[in-house]
Amino acid sequence: MNIPFNKPYLTGRETEYITEAVQSGKISGNGMFTKKCHQFFEKHYGFKKCLLTTSCTDALEMAAILLNIEEGDEIIMPSYTFVSTANAFVLRGAKLVFADSRVDHPGINEKSIENLITPKTKAIVVVHYAGVACDMDAIMNIAKRHNLWVVEDAAQAIDSFYKGNPLGSIGHLAAFSFHETKNVISGEGGMLVINDEQFEARAEIIWEKGTNRSAFFRGEVDKYGWVDVGSSFLPSEVIAAFLWAQLENLQDIQNRRKELWQTYNELFKEMAIPWLKLPSMPAYATNNAHMYYVVTDSLERRNRFITELKEKGILAVFHYLSLHDSPFYQNKHDGRDLPNTDHYSDCLVRLPLFYELPIKDIIETLKSL
Ligand SMILES: *Cc1c(COP(=O)(O)O)cnc(C)c1O
Repeated sequence: MNIPFNKPYLTGRETEYITEAVQSGKISGNGMFTKKCHQFFEKHYGFKKCLLTTSCTDALEMAAILLNIEEGDEIIMPSYTFVSTANAFVLRGAKLVFADSRVDHPGINEKSIENLITPKTKAIVVVHYAGVACDMDAIMNIAKRHNLWVVEDAAQAIDSFYKGNPLGSIGHLAAFSFHETKNVISGEGGMLVINDEQFEARAEIIWEKGTNRSAFFRGEVDKYGWVDVGSSFLPSEVIAAFLWAQLENLQDIQNRRKELWQTYNELFKEMAIPWLKLPSMPAYATNNAHMYYVVTDSLERRNRFITELKEKGILAVFHYLSLHDSPFYQNKHDGRDLPNTDHYSDCLVRLPLFYELPIKDIIETLKSL
């Protein structure tokens, strides 16, 4: 047996739609497939305005530009996250103030945020780890009281909810990823969601290299030119066509992933390994089956567990190395210990979870551990 950690799933019509995009004669960005994808998300989840991007990294960079983040501004975010959450703001000169994870979950501990706020704080960036919601009521409340922006890094959070509200619809801005390791993919790909309408017009300009090209093509202005900063954040129609084939099958993908997730969870419950904790879901959150992870009780045990699985042909992997301890940021970090972050860095293990996973074989192997 040789089970990879991830295998991108094709729904079947990707190349057909790509061919259609190519033959339409319009293969640059913001064409028919891009619009189909925007409309899907706006209708399906009630997002105010969506803009496909070439990655979630790009969507986060757009968010930092939109919020006018400048040298010396402070951004509160979890240390247990992917580098892109951090880089987007560091690129604008911001200082990162890292918050710890919750005890029961790798997401940001909402109770640790308020103490970190200073007059320089501009935004709180939350990460819905494994697609499980952060406590958004508490976080939006803090932001409101201190006049801060909230950005949701919803890279892993498609089709997941907080008290019935879709993740990505709650913060002022949100960023999704369609990287091949996520639930719905386009190779590389992402999306910025704009929930606060004051950012809508400028987001479109930043997206199109700092020009008002989108407004021009809608006939709203009679010529287009350079009106602001920006970059080339929009993906080609080839990427959007791929994504459309995936979105058409979103429900099927989600059903399958949830089934696999439950199968893992029931097995581990049954096995009741004393040094292994199963994922916990806060009552306000749903599970979008982005990831199946377990948490061991020590780094040594984690490494042994991964090795043992590898010997049996299952590729399980750890996840983030704490950003506050990273070679790039450790000297810039304010020195606070973040024990829960370190715990997840040392002890969390992710198991393979993808549409075509041969779950029966895996279950038999895991039972024999
Ligand atoms: C995957 C991921 C990203 C980056 O997404 P890209 O589309 O690869 O840029 C950012 N943040 C989190 C939490 C992620 O999981």
